Amino acid sequence: MAIQASSRGSVVGTAVLGGVLAYDTAMNARWAGVEAVLLDMDGTLLDLAFDDDFWQQRLPRAYARRHRLSLVTARAHLAPWFESQRGRLNWYCLDWWSRQTGIDLIELTRRSRTRIAVLPGALDFLDALAARGLAAWLVTNAHPAGLTLKLERTGLTPRFARIVCAHELGVPKEDPRFWPALHRRHAFPPQRTILIDDNLEALAAANRFGIGQVLAIRRPNSQRAPREIGGLPAVDTLADLLPISY
Ligand SMILES: [Mg+2]
Repeated sequence: MAIQASSRGSVVGTAVLGGVLAYDTAMNARWAGVEAVLLDMDGTLLDLAFDDDFWQQRLPRAYARRHRLSLVTARAHLAPWFESQRGRLNWYCLDWWSRQTGIDLIELTRRSRTRIAVLPGALDFLDALAARGLAAWLVTNAHPAGLTLKLERTGLTPRFARIVCAHELGVPKEDPRFWPALHRRHAFPPQRTILIDDNLEALAAANRFGIGQVLAIRRPNSQRAPREIGGLPAVDTLADLLPISY
């Protein structure tokens, strides 16, 4: 598999993902035949800087205050919980974390909401999809309360033909059961669908299910350098996909 990024971030090269689809043209040439674009929220449309700060800074500090611990000890308490829940729906569940930590995480999210921000290029990308008549679905692992707060904060709701929260389906996007469950609940043509996400396990699960094109985000957090991503087509941000032409 060989994938190269051009100077503007478009994917150029040849790749076969699970034998499902061959990528052999520039990214912008692959929109032909696409009917639906499934978009992740945190780290794809919205800046993951908020979530990284929330989980890595605000929660440990709140937990330390609540239980009268040093910040180092608080982090040591939280670390095994994070490790044990990675890839599970609890990882994203503000209710689970509230019970576990004794802190109201929905309230903590609300108090942090001024830091919620759309990533550069995300609104232009949604505008471009709309101009092309392409249906945009928001498909997120975010907890319903966090989702509601972020949509209120950003005003993005009217831009989506459908909004799907993994908590409705009972499994996160990285679980192989998610994609058939989504397809049963909301019909879409898998082979004529693109999924764009910063969650590499979710992209792999979607690809195995048969989603026609999957695309990773290299720079989900605007405050950090782009990640190296091997084995999947990738762009730094949604801005790299503009203009949509075919
Ligand atoms: Mg994400």
